[in-house]
Amino acid sequence: QVIPILSNTMLVAKKITKRYKGNSYDSVKEFTYHFPEKGLVILTGPSGSGKTTLLNILSGNDTKYEGNLEYDGLKINRFNRASYLSRISSIVFQDLNLIPSINIQDNLRIAYESAGKEYDKADCMKLLERVHLPDTGESFDEFVNRDIDSLSGGQRQRLAIARALIKSTKILFLDEPSAALDEDNSLGLSSIFQKLSKDMLVILSTHLPSIFVTENSISLHIKQGVILESEERSEPILWDD
Ligand code: ADP
Ligand code: MG
Repeated sequence: QVIPILSNTMLVAKKITKRYKGNSYDSVKEFTYHFPEKGLVILTGPSGSGKTTLLNILSGNDTKYEGNLEYDGLKINRFNRASYLSRISSIVFQDLNLIPSINIQDNLRIAYESAGKEYDKADCMKLLERVHLPDTGESFDEFVNRDIDSLSGGQRQRLAIARALIKSTKILFLDEPSAALDEDNSLGLSSIFQKLSKDMLVILSTHLPSIFVTENSISLHIKQGVILESEERSEPILWDD
């Protein structure tokens, strides 16, 4: 079963509830939200508020939950989930999952092949440009021959984003992309998300509420995966942790 890609498609979560085995509480409780087709949605909340749990469900990577996840009116189920994962949803996990024993080019090559595409240097150069790589003064060829270990946290994060874009999906999920921001400036990453979200839906989680907020972003403050407050604003949001 293949999910049709229409111009007005969007993601809808209906009463998504998840309780991990052995827990006496719900990590996500009746999360309901209609996501826009494009734009930047920021899930914020302190550690333990259910951000990662929710991203794993919304991205199709966790199927053990109650409630419905729908894309373009179609419930995501075990028959169409593979199509959802290959054509609609792409995720950058918090630990990035880059393969350290091979170079950048081979990391990207594997992603092209997994996406059923042939590795294409011109396409790859464009993708890396979108995430401001290389930013080392090196040529593309020099850069992609580097080992993963030689990259800074911020460079790794951006490489993982480029890799996630190879599938050309409609939605990009990112779990705590601010983790590497100590070393690299947050404005760079924020401007990447701003640009990407003009053409696709970008949903990210962060425990730093204000960091990626822009004029057009939507912030969903969650606790136990319940939306406490949703706002579209550009000023920083402060709260007590
Ligand atoms: P966040 O990403 O906002 O820090 P998580 O989604 O990781 O929050 O966790 C939400 C809640 O679910 C926490 O109480 C956490 O302890 C619990 N939890 C997360 N993963 C598991 C797991 N694999 N097994 C049991 N409990 C879990
Ligand atoms: Mg988390």
